[in-house]
Amino acid sequence: MKAIVLFSGGLDSLLTTRILQNQGIEVIGLNFATPFHDHSESVQKTADVFGIELIIYNTGDEYIELIAHPRFGYGKSVNPCIDCRIEMCRVAKERMEQCGAGFVATGEVVGQHPNNQMQHQLNLIQRESGLDGYLVRPLSAKTMPPTQPELQGWVDRKKLYRYTGRGRGRAIALAHRLGIKKIPQMSTCCFLCEKSYAPKVFDLFKHEPHPTNWDAEILNAGRQLRISPNVKMVLGRNENHCKRLEKLFIRPDARSSILLIPESFQGPTALLIGEEIEIQEYIELAGTLILRYTNPNKYDPSAATARIFRNSNQTVIPIVNNKEVKDFSIR
Ligand code: SF4
Repeated sequence: MKAIVLFSGGLDSLLTTRILQNQGIEVIGLNFATPFHDHSESVQKTADVFGIELIIYNTGDEYIELIAHPRFGYGKSVNPCIDCRIEMCRVAKERMEQCGAGFVATGEVVGQHPNNQMQHQLNLIQRESGLDGYLVRPLSAKTMPPTQPELQGWVDRKKLYRYTGRGRGRAIALAHRLGIKKIPQMSTCCFLCEKSYAPKVFDLFKHEPHPTNWDAEILNAGRQLRISPNVKMVLGRNENHCKRLEKLFIRPDARSSILLIPESFQGPTALLIGEEIEIQEYIELAGTLILRYTNPNKYDPSAATARIFRNSNQTVIPIVNNKEVKDFSIR
């Protein structure tokens, strides 16, 4: 018997995997990589330790649409956890059918997270994902009616658990009993749970009626500046961001944008996003903002230049620091 396990690499998903493996079930892990949460490299290493096949599912535009218009609302920040879990379980059901697996399992524990793990929410997720009867939560299974895998004898209910509420200590103790040597750190939620991240996401949804995965990736590529209702500027905060902006600029799914790279000094790369006719009037401002976020000792104010990339054209322009310019940061 095979099962698909939602495999985040967090402790509860490891416990779930090991509990099923101990019953002779072949586990296939399913991990979600989103613009807000992508630990797929380290999760792959964990999957290797557990000897399981891992499917990495990269979410696309439909996931961003789901975040923009969640049917079941947001949690404390811009996290649509119920819709997100439904989507994960829906994809897991698809993979279950493709892989010839008998059921899906998750590490959810009743009452552990007020956002998405209260009993009524777990029932909702199972129903809306189409997994009614075929979604096993081994850590809390004994607090719920038996599922088909238990009724059919594929899973031994006696060897499942009745945990409820929060309790990392007991999860660690169980991990030791199950022979799991490396205990992962506390799971880091996705960026969507961070209150400081929400303004960037809401700004995107406010100004872009059809946000895409590219737009979401841009949110993590540097300082976000709202220049006008139709123009946003992103300034790399470090070398990684600057390289990412260059890659995003040339991606086939990129929005209309112009890239500015400091030419005569070391400073942040900037991406101006908007229709070219609108961006055009903000190029001087973009130069000023690049200088604003550059160490003043690192450039000669009388000779600062930036290279501008528009589609396949490149030009070099002088840039100046206009001290009158206001702060456009999205907060
Ligand atoms: S924390 Fe993020 S990844 Fe997890 S369920 Fe909520 S929205 Fe989805």
